[in-house]
Parts: sequence; C-alpha cells; structure tokens
Amino acid sequence: MYEFDYHQPASLADAAKLLGAEEAKLVAGGMTLVPTLKQRLAKPSDLVDLAAIETLKGIKEEGGGVTIGAMTRHAEVNRSDVVKRVIPALAALAGLIGDPAVRNRGTIGGSISNNDPAADYPAALVALGATVVTTKREIAAEDFFSGMFETALAQDEIVTAIKFPKPQAAAYQKFRNPASRYAIVGVFVARTGSGVRVAVTGAGPCVFRVPAMEAALAKSFTADAIKDITIPDDGLNSDIHASAEYRAHLVNVMARRAVTACA
Ligand SMILES: Cc1cc2nc3c(=O)[nH]c(=O)nc-3n(C[C@H](O)[C@H](O)[C@H](O)COP(=O)(O)OP(=O)(O)OC[C@H]3O[C@@H](n4cnc5c(N)ncnc54)[C@H](O)[C@@H]3O)c2cc1C
Repeated sequence: MYEFDYHQPASLADAAKLLGAEEAKLVAGGMTLVPTLKQRLAKPSDLVDLAAIETLKGIKEEGGGVTIGAMTRHAEVNRSDVVKRVIPALAALAGLIGDPAVRNRGTIGGSISNNDPAADYPAALVALGATVVTTKREIAAEDFFSGMFETALAQDEIVTAIKFPKPQAAAYQKFRNPASRYAIVGVFVARTGSGVRVAVTGAGPCVFRVPAMEAALAKSFTADAIKDITIPDDGLNSDIHASAEYRAHLVNVMARRAVTACA
C-alpha cells in the first residue's frame, strides 16, 4: 500500500468535506477497495471511512417500498424481515453474493458505486426501477450505471441510500462463477404496474435491459414467450470463465428461469 491519511467522520457533512481533498476516496466495507490498495492499483491521499455514520445504515419500509441505507451489509439485506416480505427476490439476491465473509463486510452502497460488471445488485436496481439517493440528488438506477466500473457519481458525491419500489412479482437467477460467486450471467425479472423489466448483469461491460423480452413478457408472462429471443454476442464479455457466445446463451436460460421463479 501507498501511504494515506485515514479519517472516520461521524457525520455525512464531515465526510463530504473530507472528500473534497484532491485524491480522497471513500471506504465502505473495504471488500474491493482494500485489495486494490494492497495491489497498489490506487493511490488515494485520504481514505474517508463511512463506518461511523449511523444515518447511512439500516432498512426502512417507506411509501410501499423499501429504502436501504448505503452502509447496509449484504447479510443484513438477506436477513431483513422487511425486505423478505416486500421484495423477497432482493433478499434472496443478497444471499447469493460471495461468501459469508463478503456478505458480512460488503455494503450495497459500495457494491453499486464500484459497479463491477459481474455484481448482482445493478440488475436488481435497474429491473426494479430503483432510485439512488446521494448527498447531491436522486438518480434513476438506469442513469446511475454508466459503464464498466463507472457510475454517474461525481468525485465528491456520496451514495446515502437506495429506494426500491415494490414489484408485483420479481425473481433473480444467476449462473455463478464457482470460485468468487460473482455472476457469469445474472438476470433479474420484475413485473410492475408499469410493465415488465428484464435486467442483465455479468454478460456485458455494464448492466443492460432486454427490450424484446420485456415486450414479449408484457403480452404473456411465461418462460415460453421468450424461449426464442436471443441477444447478439457482439460486445459481450469473454474471458477464461465463459465466451461471449456462451454468455449470450445463458441470458436466455437465466431469464426463462427467473420468469418461472416469479410465478
Ligand atoms: C471474494 C469476493 C467475492 C465477491 N462476490 C460477489 C458476488 O458474488 N456478487 C457481487 O455482487 N459482489 C461480490 N463481491 C463484491 C462485494 O459484494 C462488495 O459489495 C464489493 O466488493 C464492494 O465492497 P464494499 O461495500 O466493502 O465497498 P468498498 O470496497 O469499501 O468500496 C468500493 C468502491 O465504492 C466506493 N464507495 C463505497 N461506498 C460508497 C458510497 N456510499 N458512496 C460513494 N462511493 C462509495 C469506494 O470509494 C470504492 O471506490 C465479492 C467480493 C469479493 C472480495
């Protein structure tokens, strides 16, 4: 690691002030950031730890949906009675992330701010039409995830919470990497009052929707309705775990499984 100054502010206002330093970086659970620092892939001047800011923690039932604080751990989302009742698919998704160590340190705010192309939460946020709340504004999930490891966040902006509306039905299915459990392909399907949304993670550089599947499912919400809908493998991820062609195939398989699981 390179040297840096470590801060643990107790308020969001102090955290935002500290983040004003030219090369400052936030740390949530450190699950991604600490290995990055250890490998000397980042050289922040200051690390601003969000761990002592109580207002960033917890889960609330609000406006018929669920609001989850940015510093809420994956294990808490997985165990939450509120999430299990209002959006059971989201609680189940959190339980599929990594292993117990990852789920007990990793946070929802850190996961979406990192926007790893194989992370699970981005698919849930986009399919459910969630809203990301920051210290400056509210951002629709679809506008938040902008590219591989890229988001709409400004350097001095902090995610404070994520607001999820309640769907009529939803399910997430992933084909996971057996070592890390990251998604080789994960598909989240949500049926809402304003239509059906299908969001895919793992397959491409950033989470994306599949409009052809959404239109077919709006007419007939059955796995059969999308059995012939394939996505092109152009531009999909290809690595030692799976080729682009295989990932394209998995999108259809995972989407059909998710639709069946919604029933
Ligand atoms: C072995 C392993 C397996 C994993 N498996 C999976 C998996 O199966 N599925 C999956 O989805 N994920 C997986 N992860 C990722 C994990 O779930 C964490 O969510 C992710 O690593 C982010 O960790 P963190 O919350 O500790 O954030 P940190 O590592 O502390 O921060 C990550 C980034 O987000 C920024 N940041 C943190 N909080 C905020 C905030 N509130 N506002 C703005 N920026 C912020 C930081 O500055 C940093 O750039 C895995 C990780 C590991 C190490």
